[in-house]
Formats: sequence, C-alpha cells, structure tokens
Amino acid sequence: MTLQEDIMKTAEIIGKSNRIVVFTGAGISTESGIPDFRSSGGLWSKYDPDVYANYFLFLKNPSPFWTMHHEVVEMLLIAKPNSAHYSIFELEKMGKLKAIITQNVDMLHQRAGSGTVNDVPIYELHGAFGELYCLKCNKKYNHDEIKDLLTEKEKIVPYCECGGVIKPTTILFGEQLPSKILSGAINACNNCDCFLMIGSSLLVTPANQMPYSAKNKGAKVIFINKEDTFMNNIADFFLKGKVGEILPKIINYLK
Ligand code: NAD
Repeated sequence: MTLQEDIMKTAEIIGKSNRIVVFTGAGISTESGIPDFRSSGGLWSKYDPDVYANYFLFLKNPSPFWTMHHEVVEMLLIAKPNSAHYSIFELEKMGKLKAIITQNVDMLHQRAGSGTVNDVPIYELHGAFGELYCLKCNKKYNHDEIKDLLTEKEKIVPYCECGGVIKPTTILFGEQLPSKILSGAINACNNCDCFLMIGSSLLVTPANQMPYSAKNKGAKVIFINKEDTFMNNIADFFLKGKVGEILPKIINYLK
C-alpha cells in the first residue's frame, strides 16, 4: 500500500473510533525544533542523558543536571507547537479523543490547546519541565520562581527555603514513574478503541508496554513514525514519514 492509501485507511479507522488514545514521543516535537534522543547531533550529543539525566547522580551532585536543564529550558521556551500537536487538538474538538499519553516533557500539547475543550487528560509519563518541587519538603515551584531563587553564590542549582534541592518533575533514568499518572494512562489504554502512536522509538519502558495493553483489549493500533520501530508487528497500520505532514492530511479526510 502507498502512504496515501495508508492515510485514507487510517482516517477511516479514526472516523469510526470515538475513544482514541494518542501516545506521543520526542518525534512529534522535532518539527518544533526540539531534537529527539536517538537521531544524531544536537544537544543530546553534548549532554549524554545517561550521565546528565541520571537520578542517582543527581542525588549525589545536582550541578551537571541543572547545567543541562538551564540550556534545555531555553530551547523549550522558544519552541512552538507544530501541525501535529494542533491535529491532535482537532481530534479533541471532534469529541474523539479519550486521553493523550506523552513521554515528552516539553508541554507543547497544552500549548496547542489540548485538554481545554473536552477535558481530555494529558498523562505526562516523564513529567514536565515547567513543574518543579523541593525534594525535602515537597514545595511546588514553577519555572519563573526558579530564576528568582538562583543567587550570586549559587547560579546553577536552585535550593528551597527549607534548604532542600529543587528538581523538575521530569523523570530521570533510575527514577520511578508517578504511580497515579501511570495507572491513569494504563486505564486509558485498556479502554480505548484506537491507539495512535506518534513519533516514538518505543524503546523506553514501561511506556512501550502501552500499545500492547491497547492491542490486547481489541483496539486498532496505528503507528506514525519516521523510521521503523521494533514493535511494528503489532500495528494494524504503520505510516512511515514526518508526523507534521501525515497527521494534518488524516484530519483533512475527517472534515
Ligand atoms: P526517541 O528519541 O527514542 O524516538 C523518537 C522517534 O521519533 C525516532 O524513532 C525518530 O525516528 C522519530 N521521529 C523524529 N522526528 C520525527 C518526525 N518529524 N516525524 C516522525 N517521526 C519522527 O524518543 P521517545 O521514544 O520519546 O523516547 C525517548 C525519551 O526522550 C522519552 O522518555 C522522552 O521523555 C525524552 N525526550 C523528550 C523530548 C521532548 O520533550 N520533546 C525530547 C527529547 C527526549
């Protein structure tokens, strides 16, 4: 089948579905200027995530993480949602979407409008860059408040008024996923009629168990990604290409 035929078939499935779960990975945001982990070049070649985003190393010395985080945040703040994020919001406006599950920390789904029309939950499995908390007293902070906490003496790592170190909710390697968010996401997968995976290598667990949960409950499974994934065999349709080009075409068929 050609990509065009796959797009039409996918639009047909989406047209018949009304409990869709969208599952996104870093690939949805590359067209917004945020590099993913696996493609070569960019920020992640400079900051090896295994070192700079390791939870146990953070607990020992948070400086390397925070050095990287300040640079990543500059990039995330200027990034804007792209046509793929807006297409997902279109599905919400059509009343077809049950939940968004994202591995991304960039908060671009919210900035595209998702969650505002039909109260579709956005399960951020790996946290969000703009939500932070003190590891000692649990006080919550937002991104702007952090800037005020960085003093002349300590320009890199922000500390809470209680003396505890502050960390974003972004999940580091070796850290547990928040159980409430994880169970909400699994529940959504168990109750969907269509599982739409967008821009993920599906290499990260436990997130990559979710397509199986949906498939086992009888949902149609559709993957859209620039390159093959090792789980393509469970997808009813695999659409290979750029999500920012493919998703708007699918939405156009639905209008
Ligand atoms: P990944 O880097 O492992 O895989 C991304 C996939 O998207 C790759 O297979 C790539 O071929 C594909 N891709 C890239 N651009 C695409 C495009 N325009 N259209 C279609 N496909 C495209 O990312 P992952 O599976 O999300 O897992 C890695 C981890 O990276 C996640 O835990 C996530 O938290 C983190 N991460 C997040 C961001 C972000 O928030 N935007 C950015 C980098 C990494």
